[in-house]
Amino acid sequence: MTARPGPAPDVVIVGGGVIGCATAYFLAAEHGLRCVVVERDGIASQASGGAAGELGATGELGAGGGGRSGEAYTRFIMRGIALHAELGPALREESGVDYLLGDIPLLRPAFDEREADELREQVRWQRGLGIETEWLDAEAVRGLGTWLAPEVVGASYTVETQLEAYPFALAVAQAAERHGVEIRSGEVTGILQEGDRAVGVRIGGEELAAGAVLIATGPWAVHAGAWMGVEVPVSPLRGQIVHLAPPEGTPMSSYGIFHETGYVLPKAGGDLLAGTTRELAGFDRQPTSQAQNDIMEAVVRLAPALIDAPIRDLTACLRPSTPDGLPLIGAVAGWRNLYLSTGHLFKGVTLALVSGRSLAQLMAGGTPDVALDDYSPARFAGAR
Ligand SMILES: Cc1cc2nc3c(=O)[nH]c(=O)nc-3n(C[C@H](O)[C@H](O)[C@H](O)COP(=O)(O)OP(=O)(O)OC[C@H]3O[C@@H](n4cnc5c(N)ncnc54)[C@H](O)[C@@H]3O)c2cc1C
Repeated sequence: MTARPGPAPDVVIVGGGVIGCATAYFLAAEHGLRCVVVERDGIASQASGGAAGELGATGELGAGGGGRSGEAYTRFIMRGIALHAELGPALREESGVDYLLGDIPLLRPAFDEREADELREQVRWQRGLGIETEWLDAEAVRGLGTWLAPEVVGASYTVETQLEAYPFALAVAQAAERHGVEIRSGEVTGILQEGDRAVGVRIGGEELAAGAVLIATGPWAVHAGAWMGVEVPVSPLRGQIVHLAPPEGTPMSSYGIFHETGYVLPKAGGDLLAGTTRELAGFDRQPTSQAQNDIMEAVVRLAPALIDAPIRDLTACLRPSTPDGLPLIGAVAGWRNLYLSTGHLFKGVTLALVSGRSLAQLMAGGTPDVALDDYSPARFAGAR
């Protein structure tokens, strides 16, 4: 795709979450394409603004195997983290938004020998990929003076990166605008079609012509299936976060604690996040007191001092989830000039820049720096 003459944009991007905004940014900044982002609510008003903002390649991953825990996906995530470091200064400069990108030391504790064995195996596997992580025994963990429960038998230790999710998404959107991207308010209700080509979108009663269309509507991409005549196997997985203050008289810890039952994440902006849930609740985005109780029960086991931590807020949002846990990034089968980018599940903020840049390269007719074959929506074509 090359920039076209005339008033119609080269690409219309449906969805102003971090995935839509990042792809628009790269299409405009690196390929000179004229883009319009159409968002029905507000920029990053959904999961992209409500995420915890932890950028890690060590969470959620097993010591091998396929799917989400596979090596290729871990390397994709690692590339995503590296791009945050590389492009962070330019994004801050272009947008004028400081989204507090910085390091955070993380502990992943084991409460028994079975968990310790699994974590030690993960450490070995991750070190083999070049991730700097190490195993600390119980004495070494206690020596750190963290909030972690004294009965842990050890923990893996990694210095990861984090940011503030909502300001990050705004920074990407504003940097995109600096490169000429137009952000428009409206709800897309269909795709304009000429033969097998996507030639724009319908926004209520209006039509917006464009050279290509990208659907980046997070979990709502499932509804775009009806516009495209193909199934989009994405569904919402609700996650809730309890926002805490440190217990009175206690300074904020500088360590994050992650365990399969929950996490505690001190943010540079002063918030202390406790998470999270994985709930199949359809498109219901209401926080629940049940989730708050479950999260607090888990984090108090991890960090007993938090039993007295004042609760400031409870938030809920919807992750875009796919059957194999991998994103859907690429061309839609049977169409020309129609693309999809969704399903980034637990890692959308981490992957936003690598996913956006790689897809922009593909859409502009080039070869992506990072191969997107594993994430092609075509892997589910015909799986109805
Ligand atoms: C509790 C929680 C914590 C998380 N923590 C992390 C984390 O620490 N690190 C990490 O990397 N990831 C994290 N994630 C995952 C991350 O938030 C998501 O993967 C990411 O935000 C998905 O971005 P998106 O742009 O695809 O979707 P969304 O943010 O959902 O954006 C889609 C946008 O499309 C718009 N839209 C929908 N339909 C239409 C339409 N018809 N017309 C116009 N606009 C439309 C919506 O309004 C929305 O703004 C977390 C998620 C949750 C729920």
